Amino acid sequence: MNPTHSPRDGAGFHAPPKKSLGQHFLADRTYVDRIVRAVNPKAGDRLVEIGPGQGAITLPMLRQHPQLTVIEFDRDLIAPLTEAAATLGELTIIHRDVLQVDFTELAAGTQIRLVGNLPYNISSPILFHALEHAAAISDMTFMLQKEVVDRMAAAPGSKVYGRLSVMLQAWCEVTSLFVVPPGAFRPPPKVDSAVVRLVPRDPAQVGINDKARFAEVVRAAFGQRRKTLRNALNGVCDAAQFEAAGVRSDARAEQLEVADFIRLANTAPI
Ligand code: SAM
Repeated sequence: MNPTHSPRDGAGFHAPPKKSLGQHFLADRTYVDRIVRAVNPKAGDRLVEIGPGQGAITLPMLRQHPQLTVIEFDRDLIAPLTEAAATLGELTIIHRDVLQVDFTELAAGTQIRLVGNLPYNISSPILFHALEHAAAISDMTFMLQKEVVDRMAAAPGSKVYGRLSVMLQAWCEVTSLFVVPPGAFRPPPKVDSAVVRLVPRDPAQVGINDKARFAEVVRAAFGQRRKTLRNALNGVCDAAQFEAAGVRSDARAEQLEVADFIRLANTAPI
């Protein structure tokens, strides 16, 4: 490991990190390089970074790929980022809450590639927001708490397999890439982080008839994960639906494959 200070030290980023915005800035160049390599920007890509912060990932990426759009909520970071990027390439800064950004509109008929060391306090809302726009996104390379990445990538039978695993894996291929220790950040978070890649599946291949119904079934099933599905889904799915889907009603949610949830949700609601 080669711990360094922020790549932008001395470049005008003087405001102290804001806890409320989940600001833990990546300060170890080794991990910055690994993230940029994992993204592997190619000519013609439409790269969009969520939460560029002090530019730890933004500026090295801009050196490789001189057109980049970033979405940053913290007003204090906008001017210094603009200044730091000026000689490197064309940086478009969207100063807005990422949850208010319409990725489909941003993609404008093409597809974008999302990148980000996400603000951990809103990492799940960002993932669900991205899912809403999955057709406009070709892939996502995100850093989040390792515990969340473990849940995202978990397989049936695992203790951490749950709603997040099923919802994300239904729409995306999820691959956990590598772990990043707290010491790689300023200030260090309390927990390990991990980098994950999500590649949205072709929506036509996903096979979910009704997104809202699917979400309802998954939420209810894991809402009471220790109960059998018959009990957890009481009022949501009846015996005929279990039968039609070929899913055992005496199983528990954590035993079902993603495809089982999709078949169960696709049977007609009560
Ligand atoms: N990418 C930088 C790095 O790796 O050092 C910063 C990562 S820091 C964990 C998260 C960044 O997301 C911060 O810059 C923070 O200001 C920004 N942020 C927090 N909430 C946001 C929101 N709702 N919309 C857009 N950006 C947000």
